[in-house]
Amino acid sequence: MSIHRSAKKVFSKVAWHAYNTHRKGFFYRSQLSKTAALFNAPRETILSFQRERLKQLIRHAVRTTPYYRDLFKDFGLKLSDLLREINADSTDISKILPLEKQAVRKQLKNLCSELFPTYQRIENATGGSTGTPLQFYQDRTYWNQRNFSVYYFDRWAGWDFGEPQLIIWGALSDVNGDYWKQNLNRFWRNQHWLNGFHLSDSAMHITFKKMQRWQPKTILAYPSSLYQFAKFISDNNLTPKWKLKGIISSAEMLHLHYRSLAETVFDTKIYNRYGGREVGLIAMECAEGRMHINCRDIYLEVDSEDPYTKPGDLLVTQLNNYTMPFIRYRIGDIGRLSDEMCPCGNQLPILGELLGRSTATFKTKDGTLIHGGYFTQQFYNIVGVNQFQLIQETFEKCVLKLVVNEQWTAETSNHIVQKIQDVLGAEVSVKIEFVDEIPLPKSGKREFTISKVT
Ligand SMILES: [Zn+2]
Repeated sequence: MSIHRSAKKVFSKVAWHAYNTHRKGFFYRSQLSKTAALFNAPRETILSFQRERLKQLIRHAVRTTPYYRDLFKDFGLKLSDLLREINADSTDISKILPLEKQAVRKQLKNLCSELFPTYQRIENATGGSTGTPLQFYQDRTYWNQRNFSVYYFDRWAGWDFGEPQLIIWGALSDVNGDYWKQNLNRFWRNQHWLNGFHLSDSAMHITFKKMQRWQPKTILAYPSSLYQFAKFISDNNLTPKWKLKGIISSAEMLHLHYRSLAETVFDTKIYNRYGGREVGLIAMECAEGRMHINCRDIYLEVDSEDPYTKPGDLLVTQLNNYTMPFIRYRIGDIGRLSDEMCPCGNQLPILGELLGRSTATFKTKDGTLIHGGYFTQQFYNIVGVNQFQLIQETFEKCVLKLVVNEQWTAETSNHIVQKIQDVLGAEVSVKIEFVDEIPLPKSGKREFTISKVT
Protein backbone atom coordinates (compact mmCIF):
# COMPACT_ATOMS: atom_id res chain seq x y z
CA MET A 1 0.00 0.00 0.00
CA SER A 2 1.31 3.42 -0.90
CA ILE A 3 2.27 5.82 1.91
CA HIS A 4 -0.32 8.25 0.60
CA ARG A 5 -3.15 5.70 0.86
CA SER A 6 -2.08 4.57 4.35
CA ALA A 7 -1.90 8.17 5.57
CA LYS A 8 -5.33 8.90 4.11
CA LYS A 9 -6.77 5.86 5.88
CA VAL A 10 -5.29 6.87 9.25
CA PHE A 11 -6.52 10.44 8.79
CA SER A 12 -10.01 9.19 7.93
CA LYS A 13 -10.15 6.86 10.96
CA VAL A 14 -9.30 9.79 13.23
CA ALA A 15 -11.92 11.96 11.51
CA TRP A 16 -14.57 9.23 11.93
CA HIS A 17 -13.64 9.01 15.60
CA ALA A 18 -14.01 12.79 16.01
CA TYR A 19 -17.33 12.76 14.16
CA ASN A 20 -18.78 9.92 16.24
CA THR A 21 -17.56 11.44 19.51
CA HIS A 22 -19.20 14.74 18.54
CA ARG A 23 -22.49 13.12 17.51
CA LYS A 24 -22.81 10.23 19.93
CA GLY A 25 -20.68 11.15 22.92
CA PHE A 26 -17.31 10.10 24.25
CA PHE A 27 -18.46 6.54 25.05
CA TYR A 28 -19.80 5.74 21.59
CA ARG A 29 -17.34 2.86 21.19
CA SER A 30 -18.76 1.01 24.14
CA GLN A 31 -22.28 1.57 22.72
CA LEU A 32 -21.06 0.20 19.41
CA SER A 33 -19.68 -2.92 21.15
CA LYS A 34 -22.99 -3.37 23.00
CA THR A 35 -24.87 -3.07 19.71
CA ALA A 36 -22.70 -5.77 18.16
CA ALA A 37 -23.06 -8.02 21.22
CA LEU A 38 -26.85 -7.80 21.00
CA PHE A 39 -26.89 -8.52 17.27
CA ASN A 40 -24.67 -11.55 17.90
CA ALA A 41 -26.70 -12.81 20.89
CA PRO A 42 -28.99 -15.88 20.98
CA ARG A 43 -32.34 -15.34 19.27
CA GLU A 44 -34.36 -15.26 22.51
CA THR A 45 -32.14 -12.49 23.96
CA ILE A 46 -32.71 -10.16 21.05
CA LEU A 47 -36.42 -10.96 20.78
CA SER A 48 -36.89 -10.21 24.45
CA PHE A 49 -35.04 -6.89 24.03
CA GLN A 50 -37.27 -6.16 21.03
CA ARG A 51 -40.48 -6.88 22.98
CA GLU A 52 -39.50 -4.43 25.73
CA ARG A 53 -38.68 -1.73 23.19
CA LEU A 54 -41.97 -2.35 21.42
CA LYS A 55 -43.95 -1.96 24.66
CA GLN A 56 -42.08 1.24 25.53
CA LEU A 57 -42.75 2.70 22.10
CA ILE A 58 -46.48 1.92 22.10
CA ARG A 59 -46.84 3.33 25.62
CA HIS A 60 -45.00 6.49 24.52
CA ALA A 61 -47.05 6.84 21.31
CA VAL A 62 -50.43 6.49 23.02
CA ARG A 63 -49.51 8.83 25.85
CA THR A 64 -47.84 11.59 23.84
CA THR A 65 -49.15 11.68 20.26
CA PRO A 66 -52.69 12.88 19.33
CA TYR A 67 -52.83 10.41 16.42
CA TYR A 68 -52.33 7.26 18.52
CA ARG A 69 -54.36 8.62 21.43
CA ASP A 70 -57.34 9.12 19.10
CA LEU A 71 -56.74 5.81 17.32
CA PHE A 72 -56.94 3.88 20.60
CA LYS A 73 -60.05 5.81 21.61
CA ASP A 74 -61.77 5.33 18.24
CA PHE A 75 -61.14 1.59 18.24
CA GLY A 76 -61.91 1.12 21.93
CA LEU A 77 -58.40 -0.22 22.60
CA LYS A 78 -57.00 -0.30 26.12
CA LEU A 79 -53.27 0.30 26.42
CA SER A 80 -52.86 -2.06 29.39
CA ASP A 81 -54.69 -4.90 27.58
CA LEU A 82 -52.60 -4.47 24.47
CA LEU A 83 -49.30 -4.38 26.35
CA ARG A 84 -50.27 -7.59 28.15
CA GLU A 85 -50.54 -9.30 24.76
CA ILE A 86 -46.87 -8.59 24.05
CA ASN A 87 -45.08 -11.47 25.74
CA ALA A 88 -42.84 -14.44 25.00
CA ASP A 89 -45.79 -16.53 23.75
CA SER A 90 -47.19 -14.04 21.29
CA THR A 91 -46.34 -10.58 20.17
CA ASP A 92 -49.65 -9.48 18.79
CA ILE A 93 -50.18 -5.84 17.94
CA SER A 94 -52.54 -6.51 15.05
CA LYS A 95 -55.32 -4.56 16.79
CA ILE A 96 -53.46 -1.35 15.98
CA LEU A 97 -54.49 -0.08 12.54
CA PRO A 98 -51.56 -0.13 10.07
CA LEU A 99 -50.10 3.31 9.36
CA GLU A 100 -50.64 4.18 5.69
CA LYS A 101 -48.56 6.73 3.75
CA GLN A 102 -51.77 8.68 3.20
CA ALA A 103 -52.17 9.04 6.98
CA VAL A 104 -48.55 10.22 7.35
CA ARG A 105 -49.29 12.88 4.74
CA LYS A 106 -52.56 14.01 6.29
CA GLN A 107 -51.76 13.63 9.99
CA LEU A 108 -48.12 14.70 10.08
CA LYS A 109 -48.59 17.03 13.06
CA ASN A 110 -50.76 14.60 15.03
CA LEU A 111 -48.18 11.86 14.60
CA CYS A 112 -45.50 13.93 16.33
CA SER A 113 -44.93 13.44 20.04
CA GLU A 114 -45.86 16.38 22.27
CA LEU A 115 -42.74 15.67 24.34
CA PHE A 116 -40.43 16.83 21.57
CA PRO A 117 -40.10 20.55 20.89
CA THR A 118 -39.94 21.53 17.23
CA TYR A 119 -36.20 22.27 17.33
CA GLN A 120 -35.46 18.63 18.25
CA ARG A 121 -37.22 17.31 15.14
CA ILE A 122 -35.05 16.50 12.17
CA GLU A 123 -36.97 16.79 8.92
CA ASN A 124 -36.57 14.06 6.32
CA ALA A 125 -38.43 13.02 3.19
CA THR A 126 -38.68 10.25 0.64
CA GLY A 127 -39.62 10.38 -3.03
CA GLY A 128 -41.74 7.25 -2.88
CA SER A 129 -42.61 5.17 -5.92
CA THR A 130 -45.56 7.43 -6.70
CA GLY A 131 -43.25 10.42 -7.06
CA THR A 132 -45.19 12.18 -4.30
CA PRO A 133 -42.70 13.05 -1.58
CA LEU A 134 -43.48 11.91 1.93
CA GLN A 135 -42.34 14.23 4.69
CA PHE A 136 -41.64 13.05 8.23
CA TYR A 137 -39.54 13.73 11.32
CA GLN A 138 -36.78 11.88 13.14
CA ASP A 139 -34.66 12.73 16.16
CA ARG A 140 -30.99 12.54 17.12
CA THR A 141 -31.44 9.27 19.04
CA TYR A 142 -33.00 7.68 15.98
CA TRP A 143 -30.06 8.79 13.82
CA ASN A 144 -27.42 7.63 16.30
CA GLN A 145 -29.01 4.22 16.67
CA ARG A 146 -29.53 3.95 12.93
CA ASN A 147 -25.83 4.64 12.38
CA PHE A 148 -24.76 2.05 14.97
CA SER A 149 -26.78 -0.57 13.10
CA VAL A 150 -25.43 0.47 9.71
CA TYR A 151 -21.84 0.33 11.05
CA TYR A 152 -22.48 -3.16 12.42
CA PHE A 153 -24.15 -4.60 9.30
CA ASP A 154 -21.85 -2.93 6.76
CA ARG A 155 -18.95 -4.71 8.44
CA TRP A 156 -20.48 -7.96 7.16
CA ALA A 157 -19.56 -6.67 3.70
CA GLY A 158 -16.03 -5.70 4.74
CA TRP A 159 -16.60 -1.99 5.41
CA ASP A 160 -14.76 -0.29 8.26
CA PHE A 161 -14.03 3.27 9.40
CA GLY A 162 -11.46 4.89 7.13
CA GLU A 163 -11.38 2.14 4.48
CA PRO A 164 -11.72 3.65 0.99
CA GLN A 165 -15.23 3.23 -0.41
CA LEU A 166 -16.66 3.87 -3.86
CA ILE A 167 -20.25 5.12 -3.71
CA ILE A 168 -22.50 4.90 -6.76
CA TRP A 169 -25.57 6.75 -5.59
CA GLY A 170 -27.83 9.49 -6.73
CA ALA A 171 -30.84 10.62 -4.71
CA LEU A 172 -31.20 14.31 -5.50
CA SER A 173 -31.74 15.24 -1.86
CA ASP A 174 -28.38 13.59 -1.10
CA VAL A 175 -26.54 15.25 -3.94
CA ASN A 176 -28.09 18.73 -3.87
CA GLY A 177 -26.40 19.91 -0.68
CA ASP A 178 -23.64 22.43 -0.32
CA TYR A 179 -20.96 21.51 -2.84
CA TRP A 180 -17.82 22.20 -0.82
CA LYS A 181 -19.36 20.75 2.34
CA GLN A 182 -20.23 17.60 0.43
CA ASN A 183 -16.72 17.28 -0.94
CA LEU A 184 -15.24 17.85 2.50
CA ASN A 185 -17.46 15.10 3.92
CA ARG A 186 -16.46 12.70 1.18
CA PHE A 187 -12.81 13.54 1.73
CA TRP A 188 -12.70 12.82 5.46
CA ARG A 189 -14.89 9.73 5.08
CA ASN A 190 -12.49 8.44 2.41
CA GLN A 191 -15.29 8.06 -0.12
CA HIS A 192 -15.34 8.57 -3.87
CA TRP A 193 -18.72 9.28 -5.46
CA LEU A 194 -19.95 8.33 -8.90
CA ASN A 195 -23.33 9.97 -9.52
CA GLY A 196 -25.88 7.28 -10.33
CA PHE A 197 -28.12 9.87 -12.00
CA HIS A 198 -25.70 10.76 -14.74
CA LEU A 199 -23.83 7.61 -15.61
CA SER A 200 -22.16 8.79 -18.79
CA ASP A 201 -19.38 6.71 -20.36
CA SER A 202 -16.87 9.44 -19.64
CA ALA A 203 -17.83 9.65 -15.93
CA MET A 204 -17.53 5.87 -15.62
CA HIS A 205 -14.18 5.86 -17.39
CA ILE A 206 -12.77 8.61 -15.16
CA THR A 207 -13.99 6.75 -12.05
CA PHE A 208 -12.56 3.45 -13.28
CA LYS A 209 -9.12 4.99 -13.84
CA LYS A 210 -9.24 6.71 -10.46
CA MET A 211 -10.18 3.46 -8.71
CA GLN A 212 -7.18 1.69 -10.29
CA ARG A 213 -4.97 4.03 -8.23
CA TRP A 214 -7.28 4.59 -5.30
CA GLN A 215 -8.02 0.91 -4.52
CA PRO A 216 -11.45 0.92 -2.85
CA LYS A 217 -12.19 -1.87 -0.36
CA THR A 218 -15.98 -1.74 -0.68
CA ILE A 219 -18.64 -0.32 -2.98
CA LEU A 220 -22.00 1.03 -1.84
CA ALA A 221 -24.39 1.33 -4.76
CA TYR A 222 -27.83 1.38 -6.29
CA PRO A 223 -27.93 -2.05 -7.91
CA SER A 224 -29.04 -0.67 -11.30
CA SER A 225 -26.17 1.84 -11.34
CA LEU A 226 -23.73 -0.82 -10.15
CA TYR A 227 -24.92 -3.01 -13.00
CA GLN A 228 -24.37 -0.19 -15.52
CA PHE A 229 -20.85 0.38 -14.21
CA ALA A 230 -20.07 -3.37 -14.28
CA LYS A 231 -21.44 -3.56 -17.82
CA PHE A 232 -19.30 -0.62 -18.90
CA ILE A 233 -16.19 -2.30 -17.48
CA SER A 234 -17.06 -5.62 -19.09
CA ASP A 235 -18.03 -4.14 -22.50
CA ASN A 236 -14.73 -2.24 -22.66
CA ASN A 237 -12.65 -5.27 -21.63
CA LEU A 238 -11.26 -3.43 -18.62
CA THR A 239 -9.92 -5.32 -15.60
CA PRO A 240 -10.26 -3.78 -12.14
CA LYS A 241 -6.91 -4.00 -10.33
CA TRP A 242 -8.49 -3.42 -6.96
CA LYS A 243 -9.44 -6.20 -4.56
CA LEU A 244 -12.82 -5.56 -3.00
CA LYS A 245 -13.96 -7.13 0.28
CA GLY A 246 -17.60 -6.77 -0.69
CA ILE A 247 -20.32 -4.68 -2.30
CA ILE A 248 -23.34 -3.26 -0.48
CA SER A 249 -26.40 -2.92 -2.68
CA SER A 250 -29.24 -0.76 -1.42
CA ALA A 251 -32.39 1.25 -2.17
CA GLU A 252 -33.64 -0.82 -5.11
CA MET A 253 -34.44 -4.37 -6.03
CA LEU A 254 -31.26 -6.37 -6.62
CA HIS A 255 -32.13 -8.40 -9.72
CA LEU A 256 -30.34 -11.69 -10.33
CA HIS A 257 -28.76 -10.52 -13.57
CA TYR A 258 -27.45 -7.39 -11.80
CA ARG A 259 -25.95 -9.58 -9.12
CA SER A 260 -24.37 -12.14 -11.40
CA LEU A 261 -22.71 -9.60 -13.71
CA ALA A 262 -21.43 -7.34 -10.89
CA GLU A 263 -20.15 -10.25 -8.79
CA THR A 264 -18.25 -11.58 -11.81
CA VAL A 265 -16.81 -8.25 -12.95
CA PHE A 266 -15.76 -7.14 -9.45
CA ASP A 267 -14.88 -10.67 -8.29
CA THR A 268 -16.60 -10.33 -4.91
CA LYS A 269 -19.90 -10.91 -3.15
CA ILE A 270 -22.81 -8.46 -3.08
CA TYR A 271 -24.56 -7.95 0.28
CA ASN A 272 -28.11 -6.75 -0.17
CA ARG A 273 -29.13 -4.11 2.35
CA TYR A 274 -32.84 -3.42 2.72
CA GLY A 275 -34.17 -0.27 4.34
CA GLY A 276 -36.09 2.93 3.89
CA ARG A 277 -35.44 6.56 4.74
CA GLU A 278 -38.52 6.54 6.96
CA VAL A 279 -37.36 3.72 9.22
CA GLY A 280 -33.67 3.01 8.59
CA LEU A 281 -32.05 -0.38 8.02
CA ILE A 282 -34.61 -3.22 8.03
CA ALA A 283 -32.59 -6.27 6.95
CA MET A 284 -29.13 -7.18 5.71
CA GLU A 285 -27.82 -10.10 3.72
CA CYS A 286 -25.16 -12.28 5.36
CA ALA A 287 -22.34 -14.29 3.81
CA GLU A 288 -24.76 -17.23 3.43
CA GLY A 289 -27.17 -15.14 1.36
CA ARG A 290 -29.97 -14.83 3.95
CA MET A 291 -31.59 -11.49 4.83
CA HIS A 292 -31.34 -11.04 8.62
CA ILE A 293 -33.93 -8.74 10.20
CA ASN A 294 -32.66 -5.81 12.27
CA CYS A 295 -34.69 -6.74 15.37
CA ARG A 296 -32.87 -4.22 17.55
CA ASP A 297 -34.40 -1.24 15.73
CA ILE A 298 -37.37 -2.76 13.90
CA TYR A 299 -40.38 -4.94 14.64
CA LEU A 300 -41.38 -6.45 11.30
CA GLU A 301 -44.75 -7.99 10.45
CA VAL A 302 -46.19 -9.41 7.24
CA ASP A 303 -49.79 -8.50 6.50
CA SER A 304 -50.82 -11.99 5.43
CA GLU A 305 -52.84 -14.99 6.72
CA ASP A 306 -49.63 -16.93 7.08
CA PRO A 307 -46.51 -14.72 7.12
CA TYR A 308 -44.25 -17.78 6.73
CA THR A 309 -45.78 -19.14 3.53
CA LYS A 310 -47.86 -16.36 1.94
CA PRO A 311 -46.08 -13.08 1.09
CA GLY A 312 -47.89 -9.89 2.06
CA ASP A 313 -47.29 -6.20 2.67
CA LEU A 314 -44.49 -5.56 5.15
CA LEU A 315 -45.52 -3.57 8.21
CA VAL A 316 -42.60 -1.86 9.91
CA THR A 317 -42.49 -0.58 13.47
CA GLN A 318 -39.45 1.64 14.11
CA LEU A 319 -38.40 1.22 17.74
CA ASN A 320 -36.14 4.29 18.23
CA ASN A 321 -37.85 7.26 16.63
CA TYR A 322 -39.80 8.73 19.56
CA THR A 323 -40.31 12.12 17.95
CA MET A 324 -42.67 10.60 15.38
CA PRO A 325 -43.55 6.96 16.04
CA PHE A 326 -44.01 4.74 13.00
CA ILE A 327 -46.09 1.78 14.18
CA ARG A 328 -47.13 -0.91 11.69
CA TYR A 329 -46.11 1.39 8.84
CA ARG A 330 -47.02 -0.01 5.43
CA ILE A 331 -43.73 0.74 3.74
CA GLY A 332 -44.82 -0.47 0.31
CA ASP A 333 -42.75 -3.65 -0.05
CA ILE A 334 -43.91 -7.23 -0.06
CA GLY A 335 -42.23 -10.09 1.78
CA ARG A 336 -42.44 -13.33 3.69
CA LEU A 337 -40.78 -14.46 6.91
CA SER A 338 -38.72 -17.61 7.40
CA ASP A 339 -38.29 -19.61 10.60
CA GLU A 340 -34.92 -20.97 9.45
CA MET A 341 -31.77 -20.73 11.58
CA CYS A 342 -29.05 -19.39 9.32
CA PRO A 343 -25.89 -21.49 8.78
CA CYS A 344 -23.81 -18.29 9.16
CA GLY A 345 -24.32 -18.56 12.93
CA ASN A 346 -26.11 -15.25 13.43
CA GLN A 347 -29.46 -15.85 15.11
CA LEU A 348 -31.37 -12.77 13.98
CA PRO A 349 -34.64 -13.90 12.35
CA ILE A 350 -34.72 -14.12 8.57
CA LEU A 351 -36.76 -12.34 5.93
CA GLY A 352 -37.41 -15.33 3.65
CA GLU A 353 -38.45 -13.38 0.60
CA LEU A 354 -38.44 -9.73 -0.39
CA LEU A 355 -40.45 -8.71 -3.41
CA GLY A 356 -38.79 -5.42 -4.03
CA ARG A 357 -39.99 -1.91 -3.86
CA SER A 358 -43.66 -2.43 -4.35
CA THR A 359 -44.57 -0.25 -7.22
CA ALA A 360 -47.95 0.18 -8.84
CA THR A 361 -50.95 -1.97 -8.22
CA PHE A 362 -52.72 -2.92 -11.43
CA LYS A 363 -56.42 -3.49 -11.70
CA THR A 364 -58.28 -5.74 -14.12
CA LYS A 365 -61.72 -4.96 -15.56
CA ASP A 366 -63.38 -7.24 -13.00
CA GLY A 367 -61.71 -5.36 -10.16
CA THR A 368 -58.91 -7.81 -9.33
CA LEU A 369 -55.79 -6.04 -8.05
CA ILE A 370 -52.46 -7.26 -9.39
CA HIS A 371 -49.37 -6.22 -7.49
CA GLY A 372 -46.63 -4.63 -9.61
CA GLY A 373 -44.10 -7.06 -8.09
CA TYR A 374 -45.65 -9.79 -10.20
CA PHE A 375 -44.53 -8.11 -13.41
CA THR A 376 -41.11 -7.28 -11.99
CA GLN A 377 -40.63 -10.95 -11.18
CA GLN A 378 -41.30 -11.98 -14.78
CA PHE A 379 -38.06 -10.24 -15.73
CA TYR A 380 -35.85 -12.13 -13.29
CA ASN A 381 -33.32 -14.18 -15.24
CA ILE A 382 -34.31 -12.66 -18.58
CA VAL A 383 -30.91 -11.68 -19.88
CA GLY A 384 -32.11 -9.83 -23.01
CA VAL A 385 -33.60 -6.93 -21.03
CA ASN A 386 -31.51 -4.16 -19.46
CA GLN A 387 -34.43 -2.11 -18.26
CA PHE A 388 -38.17 -2.22 -18.44
CA GLN A 389 -41.25 -0.29 -17.49
CA LEU A 390 -44.80 -1.54 -17.73
CA ILE A 391 -47.54 1.06 -17.92
CA GLN A 392 -51.20 0.17 -17.63
CA GLU A 393 -52.83 2.87 -19.77
CA THR A 394 -56.42 1.62 -19.61
CA PHE A 395 -58.20 -1.62 -18.73
CA GLU A 396 -57.65 -2.71 -22.36
CA LYS A 397 -54.15 -1.45 -23.07
CA CYS A 398 -50.64 -1.71 -21.62
CA VAL A 399 -47.40 -0.26 -22.89
CA LEU A 400 -44.20 -2.12 -22.16
CA LYS A 401 -41.06 0.00 -22.57
CA LEU A 402 -37.91 -2.05 -23.01
CA VAL A 403 -34.21 -1.34 -23.21
CA VAL A 404 -32.91 -4.56 -24.73
CA ASN A 405 -29.53 -6.02 -25.63
CA GLU A 406 -28.30 -8.49 -28.24
CA GLN A 407 -29.69 -11.45 -26.28
CA TRP A 408 -33.26 -10.29 -26.80
CA THR A 409 -35.38 -12.70 -28.89
CA ALA A 410 -38.92 -12.87 -30.26
CA GLU A 411 -39.61 -15.83 -27.94
CA THR A 412 -38.79 -13.69 -24.91
CA SER A 413 -41.21 -11.11 -26.22
CA ASN A 414 -44.03 -13.68 -26.59
CA HIS A 415 -43.27 -15.13 -23.18
CA ILE A 416 -43.51 -11.78 -21.40
CA VAL A 417 -46.68 -10.72 -23.21
CA GLN A 418 -48.20 -14.07 -22.28
CA LYS A 419 -47.27 -13.59 -18.60
CA ILE A 420 -48.85 -10.13 -18.57
CA GLN A 421 -52.02 -11.41 -20.23
CA ASP A 422 -52.15 -14.34 -17.77
CA VAL A 423 -53.13 -11.95 -15.01
CA LEU A 424 -54.66 -8.95 -16.78
CA GLY A 425 -56.70 -10.94 -19.31
CA ALA A 426 -56.07 -12.43 -22.78
CA GLU A 427 -57.98 -9.58 -24.45
CA VAL A 428 -55.60 -6.89 -23.09
CA SER A 429 -53.26 -5.53 -25.76
CA VAL A 430 -49.60 -5.19 -24.81
CA LYS A 431 -47.72 -2.75 -27.01
CA ILE A 432 -43.96 -3.14 -26.82
CA GLU A 433 -41.87 0.01 -27.31
CA PHE A 434 -38.12 -0.40 -27.67
CA VAL A 435 -36.38 2.65 -26.23
CA ASP A 436 -32.78 3.74 -25.61
CA GLU A 437 -33.36 4.61 -21.99
CA ILE A 438 -36.01 4.93 -19.34
CA PRO A 439 -35.29 8.18 -17.50
CA LEU A 440 -35.18 8.16 -13.71
CA PRO A 441 -37.88 10.04 -11.85
CA LYS A 442 -36.76 12.80 -9.47
CA SER A 443 -36.66 10.47 -6.48
CA GLY A 444 -34.01 8.33 -8.19
CA LYS A 445 -35.92 5.14 -7.53
CA ARG A 446 -36.92 3.44 -10.72
CA GLU A 447 -40.58 2.96 -11.37
CA PHE A 448 -40.84 -0.47 -12.89
CA THR A 449 -44.60 -0.45 -13.04
CA ILE A 450 -47.09 2.37 -13.45
CA SER A 451 -50.85 2.08 -13.52
CA LYS A 452 -52.96 4.93 -14.83
CA VAL A 453 -56.05 2.93 -13.93
CA THR A 454 -55.53 2.77 -10.19
ZN1 LIG B 1 -26.88 -15.63 8.00
